[in-house]
Amino acid sequence: MSHNICKENRLDRKYLYIQTFGCQMNVNDSDKIVTLLTEEGYETTDEAECADLILLNTCSIREKAAQKAFSQMGRFRMLKERNPNLILAMGGCLAQQWGQKILSRVPYLDIVFGTHNIHRLPEFIRRVEKNGSRFVETAFELPVKSLNIMAAPENGAVSAYVTIMQGCNNFCAYCVVPHLRGREESRPADDIIAEVEKLADHGIRVVTLLGQNVNAYGKTIAGSPGFTQLLRAIGRVKGIERIRFTTSHPKDLSEDLMRCFAEVDALCGHIHLPVQSGSDAILRRMNRGYTRDQYLEKIEGLRHYCPEISVTSDVIVGFPGETEEDYRATLALMESVTFDNLFSFKYSEREGTAAAGFDRQVPEKVKSERLQRLQALQEEHTLKRNRILEGSAQDVLVEGISKNSEHDVTGRTRSNKIVNFRGGQDLAGKTCSVLIKKACLHSLRGELARGEEHPCSSK
Ligand code: SAM
Ligand code: SF4
Repeated sequence: MSHNICKENRLDRKYLYIQTFGCQMNVNDSDKIVTLLTEEGYETTDEAECADLILLNTCSIREKAAQKAFSQMGRFRMLKERNPNLILAMGGCLAQQWGQKILSRVPYLDIVFGTHNIHRLPEFIRRVEKNGSRFVETAFELPVKSLNIMAAPENGAVSAYVTIMQGCNNFCAYCVVPHLRGREESRPADDIIAEVEKLADHGIRVVTLLGQNVNAYGKTIAGSPGFTQLLRAIGRVKGIERIRFTTSHPKDLSEDLMRCFAEVDALCGHIHLPVQSGSDAILRRMNRGYTRDQYLEKIEGLRHYCPEISVTSDVIVGFPGETEEDYRATLALMESVTFDNLFSFKYSEREGTAAAGFDRQVPEKVKSERLQRLQALQEEHTLKRNRILEGSAQDVLVEGISKNSEHDVTGRTRSNKIVNFRGGQDLAGKTCSVLIKKACLHSLRGELARGEEHPCSSK
């Protein structure tokens, strides 16, 4: 929990203000950074004005994310002018991409560190403190040492991320990830299981396994178990009630993984399976490695083993060469699947990727219009999928008091849908049987199931 330290006695402490952009992988990296720097005597604060160290963990997946990070850094210029001892650091994908060039674009920045250099942050900070020199470290170092830093869970937290692999070998034509996070590298299974056991000892009940393509887990280590064996092993860890994972690549999704949804009790009935487009021509140009029919077969297989599975996905509109017909094929695929939720993006050209050199770029206006139509369709589908749950009793793992009302608690179903219902802080961390009364677009409204003597348990 961060403190309002401008108003408190600062004592002899150092304060860290950290802001994270982008995906869960970055969130997990930031948690690791906080753990590392706590050991160095830092405490986190929500107020940048009071910090001794300001750190932005950046994202570069789309141009908008990159611009956001730069403009945020711009806001800290005044603070640096007021306090020359303030250290400003930038990490993550944008830092990796820009490297040395950032120092001239942001002349008041002290440290630029890449996606493979997180474990060296304490050393970098000491160097700046000692001789005040600005510097950049973005070398790819293998094995990636930060993979083995366990982010200390916050008091009372019920869920945690566990990174099981880093990087990606797929080179989808639009994507910067393989360029900025390096080649795929799996983490040894024993280390992962030891971390999950430690998290369970700290009271963590839900783990989300992270990787750009978790289905490829184990391929870089001779004799390593594969992803489904890892899932089964984590399913046996005492105290872990729910397992989730992201992201799964459709081309590598095996029947054994589908079977896990039926056989591993702790594995939650939700999969995030990015499709990107419903047009075979576009999928080919994107270098995705599957066709629309193959994707639909995977969905059918998943629903065979786990009929109630919730399926979410990612779609890019306006990829170079996307015609109205290609776009309609995406809408038609959405009609065939009825996703529970969809993250949709306008194609954003990224330097260094194959698609940056493609012809037939789609005009911005067309992209915006396509995105709008697609999002309207998805809203209908999300509501339709949520309404199926009305009248049913769902196991809801309570995360804490709702942000919208102090009389409500908020939690998640196994299918990862948010449920709000009347209750107090004493329910945090418990799993409650909740009757779903009303489905909305972003959450479900429920009430504790009557007729059950103990609707909530700590398991
Ligand atoms: N590894 C995952 C996968 O294979 O789908 C996710 C990678 S990325 C962090 C998350 C999503 O961002 C992608 O699924 C894609 O839809 C979107 N994305 C990636 N590059 C993009 C680009 N250049 N323009 C627009 N969206 C992009
Ligand atoms: Fe990017 Fe494709 Fe790798 Fe996902 S699988 S991280 S979209 S290159």
